[in-house]
Amino acid sequence: MSKIAILCSGGDVSGMNPAIKRFVEYSFKKGLTPYFVYGGYEGLIDNKIKEATYADVTGIIHRGGTKIFSARSKRFELKEFRQKAADNLKEHGIDKLVILGGDGSFRGIDIFFQEHGISFCGIPSTIDNDINGTQYCLGVDTALNVIKEATDNIRDTASSFKRAFVIEVMGRDCGYLALVSALTSGAEMCLIPEIPYSLESLKKRYIKEIAEGRNYFIAIVCEALKNAQEIADWFQEEIGFESRVTILGHIQRGGNPTVRERLMAYQFSTYAIDALTSGKTNSVICYNSGAFDFKDINEINAKKYQLEEELLLLGRSLLEK
Ligand code: ADP
Repeated sequence: MSKIAILCSGGDVSGMNPAIKRFVEYSFKKGLTPYFVYGGYEGLIDNKIKEATYADVTGIIHRGGTKIFSARSKRFELKEFRQKAADNLKEHGIDKLVILGGDGSFRGIDIFFQEHGISFCGIPSTIDNDINGTQYCLGVDTALNVIKEATDNIRDTASSFKRAFVIEVMGRDCGYLALVSALTSGAEMCLIPEIPYSLESLKKRYIKEIAEGRNYFIAIVCEALKNAQEIADWFQEEIGFESRVTILGHIQRGGNPTVRERLMAYQFSTYAIDALTSGKTNSVICYNSGAFDFKDINEINAKKYQLEEELLLLGRSLLEK
């Protein structure tokens, strides 16, 4: 029986566990023997590779994080350790890999494939939603819902106390999480690296709105800008509103995977296994305009992710309102 392994690499996301569960169940259905690699590329190098059973995946569908652990691996960037990783897989007779990871992990697996020819399919997994070639990455919906909950709670206080709240959200260099969160939680301000802004013109607008009765502000800023405190000070000094900063930090990564996340995880894993059993050797399963499609890893790694123009337009109009 052909053997197939799954691993998680880089930042963990909520949705990995449902994907792992489906991986095991669908592997059996397809007549494959499923394996877990514990701890990402580190586990590959250290031979932490074990056959998986149904028992391993019971009771995990509702849990964030990943049962099989994730890791960053400096050693995997070196040829000699990638050789060790390939030797371990060959020793187990594993010739197919499913990788849940972000763009860094995909760069690593591309090099590994070129050197050792072990087939893989990537499942885009990062709350930053910053992988070129796919509009959706596993983890994003749960992270957005966590941010929504937090922002709704903060709004209750903001409106009771006539305050400005500046909420910093994750996303590394990508403003996707901040922008979608701002649009869906009715924030008055959204600052992301992709959209230039002028505090002067925002000030004019806000002063007018205050005169018309506005008594609180919610501002959502992307971590890349590193300016949450500066914006809070601005609200205090220029707008005359007492302000507070909330850095949501790691609470955005975890939590009970949403229904959408679980369904996406189910489908991503199904497509990944289908890719590997139908002869695709180096693909990533992507999700665009409501449909799944496979892309060659070279296409994914060729460019940096860019926020869709349609979303950017909405973001610009939020600032110009
Ligand atoms: P993410 O996959 O979430 O973007 P990282 O950027 O930290 O996370 O990458 C995860 C891991 O992928 C790294 O720790 C490293 O092991 C591997 N990796 C990244 N870039 C390379 C590369 N150029 N060569 C080999 N391995 C790489």
